[in-house]
Amino acid sequence: KKYTKEDILRLVEEEDVEFIRLQFTDMFGCLKNMAITSSQLEKALDNRCMFDGSAIDGFVKIEESDLFLHPDLDTFEIFPWRPQQGKVARLICDVYRPGDKPFEGDPRYILKTALKEAEEMGYTFYVGPECEFFLFHMDENAMPTTITHEQAGYFDLGPVDRGENARRDMVLTLEDMGFVVETSHHEAAPAQHEIDFEYDEALATADNIMTFKLTVKTIAKRHGLHATFMPKPKAEVNGSGMHINMSLSRDGRNIFQDAGDENGLSREAYYFIGGILKHIRAITAITNPLVNSYKRLVPGFEAPVYIAWSTANRSPLLRIPAAGSEKTRIELRSPDPAANPYLALAVCLRAGLEGIREKTEPPKSVNCNIFAMTEDEKKLMGIERLPGTLIEAVEELEKDEFIRETLGEHVANKYIEAKKEEWNRYRAQVTDWEINEYLNRF
Ligand code: GLU
Ligand code: MG
Ligand code: MG
Repeated sequence: KKYTKEDILRLVEEEDVEFIRLQFTDMFGCLKNMAITSSQLEKALDNRCMFDGSAIDGFVKIEESDLFLHPDLDTFEIFPWRPQQGKVARLICDVYRPGDKPFEGDPRYILKTALKEAEEMGYTFYVGPECEFFLFHMDENAMPTTITHEQAGYFDLGPVDRGENARRDMVLTLEDMGFVVETSHHEAAPAQHEIDFEYDEALATADNIMTFKLTVKTIAKRHGLHATFMPKPKAEVNGSGMHINMSLSRDGRNIFQDAGDENGLSREAYYFIGGILKHIRAITAITNPLVNSYKRLVPGFEAPVYIAWSTANRSPLLRIPAAGSEKTRIELRSPDPAANPYLALAVCLRAGLEGIREKTEPPKSVNCNIFAMTEDEKKLMGIERLPGTLIEAVEELEKDEFIRETLGEHVANKYIEAKKEEWNRYRAQVTDWEINEYLNRF
């Protein structure tokens, strides 16, 4: 534990914090917050701040709408981009029902429940994400576009590269907020960037991903840019992924490594992979939550399409970077940054733990380029495909009792219902592609 209640009260006083944002995340991975002034802080720290849960997507019905916010004191942070007088701070909260009962629809609670199971098995779950995003221009009405400065013509003056400047500012701001930024670089597509921060325990990482997205969006805006974590904003270039690097440790030691093994992996690591691959089709409904997510998972854009793992090749769904050392980890390459990080980490962890418990052997690793294989070759090796559309993934989730149980009945049902509705709305659209393709021809 980092902070006590008294620490927070003192910090707020000393730092002249005027507003405190009590934050939580809804089922769809959107950050919500309730702002209070410092005069209400004591009440908030006593877990007495209440809100109307029926106003939040996927939470509760109007008849049972009172929910309480319980701040996690260790998440106290001052926003460096707000004025230095009358500062703004935040606390990430757990959501409770009246009577001090954790709210089963709170994604953070669902991750905590999965983490408890890991703890009971003696494990700590570490996760490092790689978040990619685009920086686009805004139009004269301050609405986001998909236009980028990197398409600017020859005659454009002005800053050499607005995106690079913005990214630099993002990194510095993240560091101000305690992030350890490991690398940041331009990604393959024009206007696409990636910032990687240090791995941490899963709960902290999920919190960090939420803070990261808020920070990136906020700083982009300051530079007159719109940051988007939409998985595939442009058809003709790479989409944005959020690869997640996972490892388990016991007594402070990474248990995925085994120097004696040909791939540098322990039995636990193999079983963890086995568990994830067994459930990956249902997991995909959580890690790739949008209609648009599936436009990214197509051949030719460095995103995975087939269910396979590899120690060498970059194309598969699961990869083992830096094998054989204390940093041994499993990199899952399918998730995108629109995923709710709490739910995504919860389903991955539980699938992996089930793999360990049931000694699920993974299929043989595939160390060649799957995209270059014929259909027959893939069939022969038993390589299947990830779901190709949102509805396919949601139907897999419906069938997978174990993943549904990980989410709990409340979230599983509401999520499936909402995603079917999203799919049905999409299905009824007539797109530009269809008009271009058919209008003249038929
Ligand atoms: N942008 C790619 C994706 O959609 C990933 C590129 C990379 O390997 O970093 O997952
Ligand atoms: Mg990348
Ligand atoms: Mg990666």
